[in-house]
Amino acid sequence: MAYDSQNIFAKIIRGEAPCFKVYEDEHTLAFMDIMPQAEGHTLVIPKENAENIFDLSPEGAAALLQSTKKVAAAVKKVTGAPGVMLAQLNGTAAGQTVFHIHFHIIPRSAGIDLALHARDKADFTRLKALAERIAAAI
Ligand code: 5GP
Repeated sequence: MAYDSQNIFAKIIRGEAPCFKVYEDEHTLAFMDIMPQAEGHTLVIPKENAENIFDLSPEGAAALLQSTKKVAAAVKKVTGAPGVMLAQLNGTAAGQTVFHIHFHIIPRSAGIDLALHARDKADFTRLKALAERIAAAI
């Protein structure tokens, strides 16, 4: 399938759609997931147009993982979660719903189940505040 440049993350990269940004560099962008599966759920994307891991260049993959590591450390610090899950879905059969590759950074604590994937929108005031705290911790 050809890359669809009208997907929501492509629009966020171009500044055509808003996001609660936590980090940006030349090759990557990170922002809050608006339907978080846990408090602090953050997404990291490459600016390169790639639908999935198989399309992404080796350079894009390196930049994406470096940013994910950097942002995950800040998410862990701010949320105080003892565990952090990284998830990256490729293809509808794997559960991918936005077709621009991204890593999910999801804080985890024992006994707290994940909310359903891409289901309920979070309070935007709360998301904005979290984004600011995570950005400040990077
Ligand atoms: P996927 O299912 O492709 O792995 O994950 C897509 C993620 O994007 C989901 O967790 C979903 O909640 C999130 N998402 C969907 N639309 C938007 C949006 O407009 N803005 C943000 N920030 N996240 C979104």
